Amino acid sequence: RPVIMLFRDDFRLADNPALNAAHASGQPVVCAFVHDPDTQRPGAIGWWLNQARSALAATLREQGGTLLEVEGTTPEAVPQLAKIFNAETVFWNRRYDPTGKAQDTQTKATLEAQGVCVHSLPGRLLHEPWTVQTGSGQPYKVFTAWWRAVRDMPPPGRCVSAPRTLTFAPWPKAAHALAEHAHTLPPHTLPEGANAAEQDWPCSEADAHDMLQEFIENNVARYSQERDRPDKDTTSRLSPYLRAGLISARQVWHAVEDAVQKHGHIAENAWTFLSELGWRDFAYTQLFYHPTLATENLRPEFNDMPWQNTQKLLHAWQQGQTGYPLVDAGMRQLYQTGWMHNRVRMVVASFLTKHLLTDWRKGEVWFHNRLVDADPAQNAMNWQWCAGTGIDASPWFRIFNPVGQSEKFDPTGAYIRTWVPELRHLPDKLIHTPWKADPALCRQIGLHLGKTYPHPIVDLKEARAVALAHYKNLPARQ
Ligand code: FAD
Repeated sequence: RPVIMLFRDDFRLADNPALNAAHASGQPVVCAFVHDPDTQRPGAIGWWLNQARSALAATLREQGGTLLEVEGTTPEAVPQLAKIFNAETVFWNRRYDPTGKAQDTQTKATLEAQGVCVHSLPGRLLHEPWTVQTGSGQPYKVFTAWWRAVRDMPPPGRCVSAPRTLTFAPWPKAAHALAEHAHTLPPHTLPEGANAAEQDWPCSEADAHDMLQEFIENNVARYSQERDRPDKDTTSRLSPYLRAGLISARQVWHAVEDAVQKHGHIAENAWTFLSELGWRDFAYTQLFYHPTLATENLRPEFNDMPWQNTQKLLHAWQQGQTGYPLVDAGMRQLYQTGWMHNRVRMVVASFLTKHLLTDWRKGEVWFHNRLVDADPAQNAMNWQWCAGTGIDASPWFRIFNPVGQSEKFDPTGAYIRTWVPELRHLPDKLIHTPWKADPALCRQIGLHLGKTYPHPIVDLKEARAVALAHYKNLPARQ
């Protein structure tokens, strides 16, 4: 009897525990994917996951197999597939988000009632959320304590290589009919304006490993010093690949650890990088224990926050038209490429929630629709961190000054010039504050404030004072 390997957000052959277990069963394998309307994502992430799935399908074809794509909800479609193939076992890698968890529990119950075994394996994280706990058996609330515990634990298990030769199960007629239907589904397209995303993000398992190698060879040694500099391309840019599971967190961890073994001098930088990878696991731990992470304030006093939610200001922020060059550069990078540098993500999130007094959930949703790495755990946790509403969060009174951040982290304005070309002829000193430029200079370089580039949409000092007053007046804090 064949076994089924169910792919979802783990579009790789190497270090894929569920695929490996399916192969090790010694039975022919059905590689399957469900187009599930309950878990499908619109926007750039929908497009990206589609690309990743197509890349996996191409690799399977090279091995003489086919990815069987069907449409339906997972709890209905998977038991149906098991019946059609008379499958003995279904293998999958675990999910941690509330919808995924609920679906998998239901699917498992139905399959077991049909006499089909289910093996769910840990394939997404470095450590399963429930394996890193405080001495009293509670989940950690603070990253530094969680990270200390992780560093005291044995490293994540060694990676497993891709199965050498997979034996694919033949398809009965009914499977062909389901696959034909799935081919008629409309394609996932990139959101409007995201023109640069396709060339920026080559998409395959091999591409993910190339990115990792390039990072290790050229950038990891500079990571601590430069990771906050959006004008330097020092970070790994692995987030979309990790999101689609084109590479596993374990593979990244071990590749970096191996590099440290060879080149001891990079150790400090490498550990800073691995701690960032740790934040990814920590976000999943938060989502696992707080399923409403993307929709509810983890600190309930913020339920009384009188957000102003001014539509005009939100729109200006979304379009990169706030008049603050670093904020606009970040929002345009996101719009066009589906990605934004981490430091700039923090600046634009602080600006939206504090200077514009807009509910963090509006930013979270916008990011989720535009990011190619949009992730239910990382996006939600980081928005709550920036807004001060999370469990391990930056305090509300930490309000980033977008001008100060710009001067510090993009000192020559190279990043701003890339994404806000209408400011590119301003001298370095003025590029962070175009409103201070002399009108004669503006005329000379063709910059018409209010026309070719907006005046600042809020006064930073005033907006900061209003934000702090709103916070102090929260009823629960009086
Ligand atoms: P690197 O610096 O090379 O880091 C390596 C990996 O570590 C990343 O690929 C990522 O998986 C992980 N990582 C790094 N920083 C963080 C962090 N702060 N939190 C959690 N994991 C981290 N990341 C996403 O993958 N998806 C999101 O939807 C997402 N939304 C965010 C929203 C906001 C408001 C903020 C402030 C951050 C968000 N991040 C998100 C985290 C971070 O910005 C990105 O992971 C990072 O910029 C990706 O670039 P990189 O791969 O070059 O990172």
